[in-house]
Amino acid sequence: MKLDPTVLRTMVPQDFQVLEAIEKGMAKHALVPSPLIASLANLRHGGTNKILSSLLRDKLLSHDQSCGYDGYRITTAGYDILTLHNLKTRKMIAAIGDRIGTGKESDVYLAVRPNGEQVVLKFHRLGRTSFRNVKKTRDYFVATHQKGRNTGETKQNQGNSWLFLSRKSALKEYAFMKALYSVDYPTPVPIGHNRHIVVMSLIRGVPLYQVIRTTISAEQASSIFHQASDLALRLAKHGLVHCDLNEFNLIVDLSENGEPRPVVTLIDFPQMVSTLHPNACELYERDTNCLLKFF
Ligand code: ADP
Ligand code: MG
Repeated sequence: MKLDPTVLRTMVPQDFQVLEAIEKGMAKHALVPSPLIASLANLRHGGTNKILSSLLRDKLLSHDQSCGYDGYRITTAGYDILTLHNLKTRKMIAAIGDRIGTGKESDVYLAVRPNGEQVVLKFHRLGRTSFRNVKKTRDYFVATHQKGRNTGETKQNQGNSWLFLSRKSALKEYAFMKALYSVDYPTPVPIGHNRHIVVMSLIRGVPLYQVIRTTISAEQASSIFHQASDLALRLAKHGLVHCDLNEFNLIVDLSENGEPRPVVTLIDFPQMVSTLHPNACELYERDTNCLLKFF
């Protein structure tokens, strides 16, 4: 589904209070009962119902009575709007633009900051494919679910896991990007995050897989290969394996803006693991083999 941020223009503070109340309620309930929403939002019952109808009309919520009561849950669009509202209020962004990328587990959009600078928003979308896939690729899946079990999370509300997993994935990506950027790795500049969205600088260039063989010299290709393999090695020395180091996650800038050699930037960090991970060696080899195979 395409993101429609125009609803933000007509929304009032109470709309966000209700969305936030449902988000809170979803930690314990697969479907949040309307009286609980009214109480968490701190609004009158009648007032809440009117807001619920308008949020439903805008498809920011879904409604279900199969549980035997009037239950609501936030939709992906609702979660996007709530998060964009937070980023706008905190002046992280002023407006959102076109979608520039989409993966199995993310959507990437352009946005503008209040000072006019173009930035990138990465929306983490875990659970969009299958949970088996999430389990395979995300080490914190198990931790999240074990924690959920201990805190009495019901089996029923595991349907809401996408919300928590997407948020964790964004948090993990932001934390890694910040740590790596602070020690001068070539990553995007981490600007901020909220819930499932990470705000980062826009990197000039194209993903490596789009670099056409005939347009680059052997020296440029060799330089890209060495920069990429040096990154894998440097990460390992810092105790980390990227786990998705390939032609899709390296952005290459070939424009010769006073730069004689191509500039390579590393992106996409949610799946990184420690070199203490039991499969770290295998994962490191997979990364370097991907690079070798591509080149
Ligand atoms: P996924 O986990 O879905 O692979 P990525 O972080 O790799 O997500 O982003 C998907 C695509 O979006 C990338 O291949 C790239 O084309 C584009 N992209 C992501 N971050 C940036 C950025 N900071 N600047 C420019 N393009 C980006
Ligand atoms: Mg990627």
